[in-house]
Amino acid sequence: MKESQIHKAVVAHWKALALPGTLVATIPNMGAMGQHGLTKGLPDLILIGPSLHGYLELKTETGKLTGPQRDFQSICIARGIPFYVTYGRDQPIQLLEELGLVRRAA
Ligand SMILES: [Mg+2]
Repeated sequence: MKESQIHKAVVAHWKALALPGTLVATIPNMGAMGQHGLTKGLPDLILIGPSLHGYLELKTETGKLTGPQRDFQSICIARGIPFYVTYGRDQPIQLLEELGLVRRAA
């Protein structure tokens, strides 16, 4: 499964099963041209839930963080900001459930 397909599936899952007061939103870096503040390594998704505001970097089953992504991860760790990396399609959906952003699918 390509990362773009994983990304689409994760956002669709949140839209279908979102708990009130939560947010899963794309950071529009890929393909965004000419906007001020575009920065290499920004993660795929912003996560806002009952007890966190953090970031999620999606990867394919075999994906790896790039250098700029590791730099972003390091800033988050240094500042105590939750930063997650998931692999494949099931891990990010499980994470959204664990963080209380979606209802568990029946
Ligand atoms: Mg990614």
